[in-house]
Amino acid sequence: MGDISLQVIVTGLVQGVGFRPFVFRMATLFRLTGWVQNTNENVRIQLTGKAGDIAKFLVSLKEQAPPAAMIDRISTTEMEMIPFTSFTIQGSHDVSDAITEISPDIAVCQDCLHDMEQPGSRLDYAFVNCTNCGPRFTIIQDLPYDRAKTTMKSFAMCPSCRQEYENVSDRRFHAQPTACSICGPRYELYAGAERIRENIVEIVGHVAQLIDRGGVVLIKGLGGMHLACDAFNETAVTKLRELKFREGKPFAVMFRDLESLKVYAHVNALEEQALLSWRRPIVLLAKKGNSPQPPLAGGLNSGLNLLGVMLPYMPIHYQLFRQLRNPAMVLTSGNFSSEPILTDNRDALDQFAARVDAVVLHNRDIYNRTDDSVVRISAGKERVFRRSRGYVPAPVRTGMNLEGIVAFGAELTNCFCVGKGQKAFLSQHMGDLQGLETTLFYEKTISQFIQLFRIRPSLLAVDLHPEYVSTRMGLSFGDLPVVKVQHHHAHIASCMAEHHLDERVIGVALDGTGYGTDGHIWGGEIMLCDLNDFTRITHFEYIPLPGGDTAVEEPWRIAVSWLYKVYGKDLFQLNLPLFNRVDPEKIGLVIQMIDKNINCPLTSGAGRLFDCVASLLDLVQVSSFQAEGPMRLESLVQDHCHANYPFRLGETIEFAETIQGIVDDLALGTGKDIIATKFHNTVILAIFESVKSIRIKEGINKVVLSGGVFQNKYLLEGTMSLLQKNNFEVYSHAAIPTNDGGIALGQLAVASKRREMSCV
Ligand code: ZN
Ligand code: ZN
Ligand code: FE
Repeated sequence: MGDISLQVIVTGLVQGVGFRPFVFRMATLFRLTGWVQNTNENVRIQLTGKAGDIAKFLVSLKEQAPPAAMIDRISTTEMEMIPFTSFTIQGSHDVSDAITEISPDIAVCQDCLHDMEQPGSRLDYAFVNCTNCGPRFTIIQDLPYDRAKTTMKSFAMCPSCRQEYENVSDRRFHAQPTACSICGPRYELYAGAERIRENIVEIVGHVAQLIDRGGVVLIKGLGGMHLACDAFNETAVTKLRELKFREGKPFAVMFRDLESLKVYAHVNALEEQALLSWRRPIVLLAKKGNSPQPPLAGGLNSGLNLLGVMLPYMPIHYQLFRQLRNPAMVLTSGNFSSEPILTDNRDALDQFAARVDAVVLHNRDIYNRTDDSVVRISAGKERVFRRSRGYVPAPVRTGMNLEGIVAFGAELTNCFCVGKGQKAFLSQHMGDLQGLETTLFYEKTISQFIQLFRIRPSLLAVDLHPEYVSTRMGLSFGDLPVVKVQHHHAHIASCMAEHHLDERVIGVALDGTGYGTDGHIWGGEIMLCDLNDFTRITHFEYIPLPGGDTAVEEPWRIAVSWLYKVYGKDLFQLNLPLFNRVDPEKIGLVIQMIDKNINCPLTSGAGRLFDCVASLLDLVQVSSFQAEGPMRLESLVQDHCHANYPFRLGETIEFAETIQGIVDDLALGTGKDIIATKFHNTVILAIFESVKSIRIKEGINKVVLSGGVFQNKYLLEGTMSLLQKNNFEVYSHAAIPTNDGGIALGQLAVASKRREMSCV
């Protein structure tokens, strides 16, 4: 049998992840000749060899690809036989205006960790990396991905790094950030504003000692600064909270390894996979209840049964854990709460040097700021809640023409999104667009994305809310057409775009707050919609929100509002814990506000109903972090309880009987865990019954779930399984946040659809 020739085109995330050297190794292994080449759109391979060997090559291409590579498609075309003498890697080639994808940052690989233990210029070298690992997005300033266009440009490669970089069979062939202790970045330790150490071994030893003794240290990471302290030291954790002005929001914890983590949290196979993935996100896990020894500091996660944990992903994390006494440290973003994570060395010293026990900086600049990402495994899938380091800027592939669209997102948990061809580039987590610093970060990142992905903006998409910073930013962006998208329509459209749906569906959007077309605050919405438009079919009944935003921070106000609606002035006869917690005068005032309709916007927000129940159960009267009430309520859920409370499907979805049922149960002394579970079951059933009646009328069988309330695992799993048991096709978010971080993708999809239909 003679040789044959084949052309192979590989698309997806195949650049900056060691793909060409991998192709070279596989081709050589199977005695194939030809070449491999990067274009700005894809990787092209020309092969000549035995048919059987080529077949084996193609299988390996799929099965053994480097971990961070994401192959979208492999297409092959048979060619006339072309004889080659060898297999070569050819230079990059520009074929069009299209751009290649940029790899997210990749956790340090085992080979590089091994290199750190070998004598030579990488012994203990904390910036070791190779084509399979290391910084990517956070250091990239422009395309094509080349050292000169990264923040590594100020470090000239030493001869030995250069040799590896140019050697096609080396693991560091074309590894743009490659470096060693002779030529690369280094750490510096500051005490006060004074630089006291530069030797990495001494720095690590010193920092470990400080942490062991209860100190707090600021450490520069991949996408920003972290604050670190011993996760077992209550005093240190309290100190860290005060330092950040962060009252109750749970802290993330980094464990030394999976083994020590399993002492403190339940880990199933999918959770283990997420923890160990090269993306190294924070994974939300259920805490173990058997009080393991030594106990983690109680102040870590405010008594919730969820723990946000991650495993080491930078070389210095591994180095620290070798010295630390305990197997876990708090590793939380280095910033004052409500500000974005710090990236600049000067700012870090100015703001934190006098407040912490030490500051560890390095001289590799962070160009693209990223936070640690957060995921949770629900209904057998990884659900991304905060999409940042390790995930961004991988695009979302759609079947739509998104070219030139810029979508500005919502307000809290903001992300924006830009369209290039059929790809949507969703930004990293921005934070809450209320502080000035976050707004500046938002503005700057929008222009960075536009430049990086060569976007020529031609259409803008914003939320319907006139007061959102993002809306105002969009409206003042330039003289371009603007599409305004209702918040919950955008939620559903986001989930539709993630699943390539372009048809009429039943949308269930449950969240806290979104501006409605009637001027009220929506958030418990069941709609019929497609990508172009929506019809609101039913919703959680409206309830006055006494004090507006203040009521979101003080759930007792919402409970009073509900009780007043259900019991009128008789509410004072009820024996509820909230009456012992809150000044009766204040309660009276809230009732007056409702009576006179003073600062009492109407809301159908599902999050508010959860807040109300959390207050009735005395889980929280005044929140110390966002969604505290719903999280505490979910924490109590018991899988074995299948009962529910009554509710009514009228004009709207009415919960007066639910509230009565809860109040009665409290009077009977029913356990809070049972009440919380019955309440969850009620919401699940109410969604199901509403959706079922829509199916009967409209004959639509696809249900799309979105909104921040679906971060609740019990609610998501319960809703999905009940709907699926009844033969609904159910779609929920996985790669894209179900919270407002996913909104911009929905705005982008709606804008694209309206443009296609010539509505803009
Ligand atoms: Zn590596
Ligand atoms: Zn070097
Ligand atoms: Fe929302």
